[in-house]
Formats: sequence, C-alpha cells, structure tokens
Amino acid sequence: MIANNLKIIDNVLYFGGRSTIELAEKYGTPVYIMDEPTIRENCRRYVRAMKKYFGESSKPFFASKACSFKRMYSIVESEGMCADVVSCGELYTAKAAGFNMKNICFHSNSKNDFDICFAIDCGVGCFACDNEEELEAINHFAGEKGIKQDIIFRVTPGIDTHTYEAVNTGKVDSKFGFPIETGAAMCITKKALSLPNINLVGFHCHVGSQLFESSVFVRSAEIMLVFIAEVKKETGFEAAVLDLGGGYGVRYTENDPVIDIEDNIRQVAEYVKSKCTELNLNQPEIHLEPGRSIVADAGITLYRVGNVKQIEGYKNYVSIDGGMTDNPRFALYESEYTVVAADKANDKCDFPCDLVGRCCESGDIIQPRIMLPGSIKRGDLIAVLTTGAYNYSMASNYNRIPKLPVIMLNGAEDYVAVKGETLEDIIRNDM
Ligand SMILES: *Cc1c(COP(=O)(O)O)cnc(C)c1O
Repeated sequence: MIANNLKIIDNVLYFGGRSTIELAEKYGTPVYIMDEPTIRENCRRYVRAMKKYFGESSKPFFASKACSFKRMYSIVESEGMCADVVSCGELYTAKAAGFNMKNICFHSNSKNDFDICFAIDCGVGCFACDNEEELEAINHFAGEKGIKQDIIFRVTPGIDTHTYEAVNTGKVDSKFGFPIETGAAMCITKKALSLPNINLVGFHCHVGSQLFESSVFVRSAEIMLVFIAEVKKETGFEAAVLDLGGGYGVRYTENDPVIDIEDNIRQVAEYVKSKCTELNLNQPEIHLEPGRSIVADAGITLYRVGNVKQIEGYKNYVSIDGGMTDNPRFALYESEYTVVAADKANDKCDFPCDLVGRCCESGDIIQPRIMLPGSIKRGDLIAVLTTGAYNYSMASNYNRIPKLPVIMLNGAEDYVAVKGETLEDIIRNDM
C-alpha cells in the first residue's frame, strides 16, 4: 500500500487500524476519514529535523490552506508547529481554536483593508507581504493602531519547477511576490526600510508543490541567500528570517517516490550553512511551510457506488455519491489518485473504468482510467486514498451538495472533527 497507515485484512481496507466497512456503517458516506497519529507524526518529522539541522530557532509553519478546521490547528500547534493562513477565514478558525496569533503568518497575494485590519487586531505575528499597495496599507493601518508590524517579503527566485503550471509559483512571471531578477524585490526592500510602521524581518519564497527533490530547495536557498547578501551590501539590512516555503511531495500513487523529509532537510541545511559562510552572512532563522506533506496521507475519502454504466465499445463509468464538490483536484489539476474497492480490496481488478462524481458536469471526474473488480456494483464501498490535503479545504457546495463530515481516528477512538452539512445548512444564508 502507498502509506503504512493502510492495510488489507480479510479483503477489507483498513485505515489507521480501523475497518473502512465499519467506519462507513457508523458515519455513512461520503465521508472524509483522517488519522490523527499520522498528522502528528508528519509534524514531528519536520519539527525534529528542522531543530536538528537548522537549529533551535528554525520554525515549521503548517500551510493551513491544505486542511483548515479548528481541531487541525490544535493538533499541529500541540506538536510545536506555527501556521500560515491566507484569509481571514483561516485566521478566524485558528483564533477560535486558541492558536497563538504570534505564531501565525498571513499570506495571500491580495489582502484588502479589512483583511489587514482584522489580522492586526488579532495580533497576527507576521504578514508575508506580496505587493507595494499592500505594503503601504499595512504601514498605514499599523500606524493608525500604533504598532510596528513585522513583515517578510514574498519574492520570486525565478525557478521553474517543471510541475503542473497551476502549482508552479516561483517563476519570474508568477502572480505571487516580487521578482528578484527585475530589481523589484530590491526596490521594495529599500522602501520598506524607510517606512515608520513596518519592521521588515526577512524574505520568503515558495517555488512549487508536489516536489520530491531537495535540489529545488537548495537552488531557491542559493538565490535567496545571494539576494540577502546583496540587500546587506546595498542597504546594511541583514535579514533575520529566510522562509523557503512548502512543497514537499506526497505519494498519491505507487509511481510517486517515497521522500525522506529528514534527509532532504539535512541537505538543504548543509547547503545553507556553507553558503552563509561563503557570503559572510549570519545564518538566518529558517522557516519551512509544509501543507500537503503534513495532512495528505492522513486522509482518505469513503464513497458508495451509485451505478456502473457500461457503454459498449466505448468506456465504463463507476459513479459515486460524492465528486468534484468534495475533491476538485482532478478537475483542476488532473491530479492522480489511488482508488481501492474498500470492501473487496484484494479482488482482481479487471474492469477498466472512470470513477466519476454526481455533479452535472462531464468534468466531474475523480480519477479516469482506473481498474476496479469486475463485480463492482451499487452500494459497494470505494476508498480514494491520500485525500487529506486540498480536499476538505477545497470543497464547494456546487449543485447545493452539502459538505462532508471529517471524522478523525485516534487509535481505537474516533470523533467528529467537522460535522457534515445538512440540507438545512445549505439554505441557512438564503433570505
Ligand atoms: C500552498 C503554500 C504552501 C504549502 O504548499 P504544500 O505543497 O502544500 O506543502 C506553503 N507556502 C505557501 C506560500 C503556499 O502558498
């Protein structure tokens, strides 16, 4: 199996030590199932490796857009993680969970005045500032509120990570941040240093997602450190923080490699250390922002088959009771997933089909061209694996479909982390 929290016992898929048949019976379908010990272990891996190789001051931030609900913030905070948010909604959720606001960094490439004021009023630790208008607005509102606001600048190191275009964010022409290459990053740095209510603490980059090699992080570290050295030379300002972003890959299918996060971090840390010596810089406090690699393999989604449609001479469809409203990732990015017939997990898979959702949309595909057992029929249980990241957080109410509950497993225990929406919830804001 693609993760060690998955097992097949007596032809049944087990997740987090629990029978998917029993979970589906207890909670109904469709349902997100998440495994708390897996989330915790994924956090610990980052916390341990970063302290060990980057030093005690280094900080892993959970990129909470990957999976945001109150309980998630409590779990990651108790493991020593800070958090990134990209909206007031995420910030509000973290605050409601009691998350220490000082340990939050507010991202987003388009924060409006409300966002900035709300975040300052919450006492947010840091803004990742994306553009000049925003810098001026933060300076203005921080002044009004009588504080000096910590910020880091998001800059684009100009790296093409060769991943899917929509998750490729570090190129010069990206919508995010200030390019180094054009001089924009240097220019805005000088401006920030002259503003009275801004405390520039460092620089940030995030070059892509679903990356498997430390070489990408080494390359961005190199460009960022050279930039930091140039800034020091031109302005005398030496950045205290270098945030290298998130992006470590996870296994969606057997074809994805297994990644050794600890060893990757070790390699990046060794490089940062030697490069800082070469450039005569004090090593900045290093931040990383893992999202996917904290939660993806901690989640699966369970569905029941609604119908099996064989279009003679063309193709076969297996339709389920969920779809792009709970997992839009194939529709958005053509993302790959592993699909298992959870109640006949060892049966021979000899039936080629597309696994499709219930929405009125031909693009509502969870995964095309898969193989399922030939006996697959209405009522059978389907598990889509590795759905812990960017599934619940990307869910929509398209077709007025209620959002699924998130059930958390913790050894022999299980609990509702997020209630499923009811039909009443669907109309709650309708006047
Ligand atoms: C999305 C995002 C991340 C997390 O990326 P993953 O691929 O989920 O690890 C980190 N930092 C920033 C700025 C992001 O936008």
